[in-house]
Amino acid sequence: MGIKQQLKSLKAELPENISLVAVSKTKPYIDLEHAYECGQRIFGENKIQEMTLKWESLPKDIQWHMIGHVQTNKVKYMAPYVSLIHGIDRHKLLKEINKQGAKNNRVIECLLQMHIAQEETKFGFNLEELKEVVNELKINPLPNIKIKGLMGMATFTENKDQIRKEFKILKQYFDWIQTQLTEITELSMGMSGDYSIAIEEGSTMIRVGSKIFGKRNY
Ligand SMILES: *Cc1c(COP(=O)(O)O)cnc(C)c1O
Repeated sequence: MGIKQQLKSLKAELPENISLVAVSKTKPYIDLEHAYECGQRIFGENKIQEMTLKWESLPKDIQWHMIGHVQTNKVKYMAPYVSLIHGIDRHKLLKEINKQGAKNNRVIECLLQMHIAQEETKFGFNLEELKEVVNELKINPLPNIKIKGLMGMATFTENKDQIRKEFKILKQYFDWIQTQLTEITELSMGMSGDYSIAIEEGSTMIRVGSKIFGKRNY
């Protein structure tokens, strides 16, 4: 199946309240254009340089989501245009985004990334650290960022019970942070292999790459 067909059948399957981030990392412009022609407007990338090149070349009504690990010294390159940063895993990064947001005269929307998987390699806060960040934000609000919710990645496994368990934990963190901060609306969980489980467990935003664009060649 081509990109357009894959995207159409995926969209037909999704409940209306679920946002779809089309994860286009490593994919050429033509693939993104095909998705765009089907009405897709949210694209996810994990490298700032690649995302910036795509932003420069493609239609300006695309919303660019940074879904990867963010280096502090690179925030300035995406600050003028990025629509949502999913992978916030340290307070220092929020301070830099706030600074760059101010320079660009805008409020940059962010998600806090939670570590829910068994793999050590995945980034993110634990509950203790989440509480610390939330407290810090209450004491010293950062006016040029807006926390919109949480993001997480489940363990890469065939074990669906394990994945579901991890998503349930993330949903609990989400319910908690909703009681702490205002305008928390987004729970970014679910990828090509596990988005159905994620939706059942309360996701509001899924990040799907290979199911739309095919396998990635690195
Ligand atoms: C690559 C990536 C995805 C998409 O993965 P697929 O399995 O191709 O859908 C989603 N989220 C993050 C954080 C990623 O890095």
